[in-house]
Formats: sequence, C-alpha cells, structure tokens
Amino acid sequence: MTRRSNVVKAKHRSRAYFGGCLFCGVMDTDGAHIYPAGPYPQYKEIVFNIVPLCRKHHQMMDNLGGFTRRPAQRINYLETHCMDEYKQQLEGWLVNLKGVLNE
Ligand SMILES: [Zn+2]
Repeated sequence: MTRRSNVVKAKHRSRAYFGGCLFCGVMDTDGAHIYPAGPYPQYKEIVFNIVPLCRKHHQMMDNLGGFTRRPAQRINYLETHCMDEYKQQLEGWLVNLKGVLNE
C-alpha cells in the first residue's frame, strides 16, 4: 500500500460520508484538505482532514490568498459557506479532526 493510495482512500471515505460538495451539493467532487498537504504532509492521510468540494469550490478555498497556510481560517470559511444540510455532519467531522490532531 503506497502513501498515495492511502490519501485516495481517505478522499473516497470523505466523499462517501458527505455525498456531495459541502458548498453546492454537486456530486462530482475533489477531496479538499483542510490542513493543506504542502505545509502539513503529516496530516494528508487523515480522513477528517479531507472534505468533498467541487472543483470550483475547491479552488475558491485554496485561493484564499494568505489563508492557504492558515487552517483556522479555512475552517471558518468551510463553516461559513457550508450548506445547511451538511452543517451538522461538518461540525462532527471537525470535532473528530481536532481529536485526532490532539492525540
Ligand atoms: Zn461546489
């Protein structure tokens, strides 16, 4: 099992859990890292660090200027733009992410 396929697996699990883009509900989604894989390679395989976003909304989150390396602001952006039907799931996901990172 290569590291790359563990990331792919985590992305599949995240997509299966939520079902669609958190911002618009489209089913064709990327697995978007909350803690970006560049500065945080140690978190890239953590399923709770991945949320499904369509390509357009993935790019919007990744192009938040100086926010790219600031996970707290990416989380705030996710919470602000998340559709109502995904909000509860997202909150649980983020609680799990914090739990894993604090271990
Ligand atoms: Zn979208």
